[in-house]
Amino acid sequence: MNQNITENINQIQARIENACQKVGRNPKEVKLLLATKTVNAERIKTVLNAGYTLIAENKVQEVKEKYDALKDIPHTSHFIGHLQTNKIKEILRYDIRCIQSLDRIELAQKLQQRLAYENKNMDVFIQVNTSNEASKFGIAPEKAIALVQEVAQFDRLHIKGLMTIGLFSAKSEEVRPCFQLLKNLQLEINGLNITNVDVSELSMGMSNDLEIAIEEGATIIRVGTAIFGKRIYSDSYYWNENH
Ligand SMILES: *Cc1c(COP(=O)(O)O)cnc(C)c1O
Repeated sequence: MNQNITENINQIQARIENACQKVGRNPKEVKLLLATKTVNAERIKTVLNAGYTLIAENKVQEVKEKYDALKDIPHTSHFIGHLQTNKIKEILRYDIRCIQSLDRIELAQKLQQRLAYENKNMDVFIQVNTSNEASKFGIAPEKAIALVQEVAQFDRLHIKGLMTIGLFSAKSEEVRPCFQLLKNLQLEINGLNITNVDVSELSMGMSNDLEIAIEEGATIIRVGTAIFGKRIYSDSYYWNENH
């Protein structure tokens, strides 16, 4: 099993390198984030010990369950799931470096409040719904800049990037516009020179579409299935706030 994980990571590395080569990018510009939902702490330890130390969960409950087992191995944790405001206090206990799924002002306000109370800061990405699928979270693209401007005023939150989940489609030419949209938003936002905003990271691309995301400028790809194998729950389980 562990052998498999290492082999799978090597394959992902090769895919990253090929995609970079195709468009003349340096593979070092693309960070591999391991999406570890449903993966137990033992298996996560394997990848951390192999030197892949950027990981992310979708649910606060899973962050909590695995925290003790992983806390002594150096790594960086991001959060990539839908965050309910009543979970803010809890998530701040677990050393999360960046919340990639900030998608509404109410969440930003409540995060700011709690971070100020605890005298902490948090890196955030704005999650944009680039595919217009109702089943996915994220701010609508046309409202993203307004959200960035509002969040920029919260001194405890530091916007470092944008995140999106591409359209689920086997046709690459249908997925690509999602990633192009995120890239264009990045350029537009950085052009505005907003204080407290530096959108240098683009978190886009998953097991099935990472090449397209890299071609369009991804700096972080989020990979689960291609490394850890198929999950028993469908992704809608993880992307639905009612679970
Ligand atoms: C699960 C998940 C991923 C990884 O998806 P795979 O298709 O398993 O590689 C990436 N981003 C988010 C937000 C996820 O929930």
